[in-house]
Amino acid sequence: MAKGVVVIDEDRCKGCGLCIAACPQHVLDFSEKINKSGYNYAYMKYPEKCVGCAFCAMTCPDVAIEVYREKVAA
Ligand code: SF4
Ligand code: SF4
Repeated sequence: MAKGVVVIDEDRCKGCGLCIAACPQHVLDFSEKINKSGYNYAYMKYPEKCVGCAFCAMTCPDVAIEVYREKVAA
């Protein structure tokens, strides 16, 4: 089973929330912090739940998300 990690470019994020809605594992949420444009950016609230499906990255209109997968022993 693959486990994933996403890297969100905080300053590219405009806080639209589409990735948060798209994630089937409910990994993502809005940060309480704001980026340099004044938006509450998305972050991995529950990183241990990420499966690396990349739905979040495919949904992001600003291409702010990169997804990495690692193989873990079954
Ligand atoms: S890769 Fe999949 S599981 Fe991980 S944060 Fe994105 S949508 Fe959620
Ligand atoms: S979809 Fe992209 S721009 Fe929108 S909240 Fe997620 S990372 Fe930010």
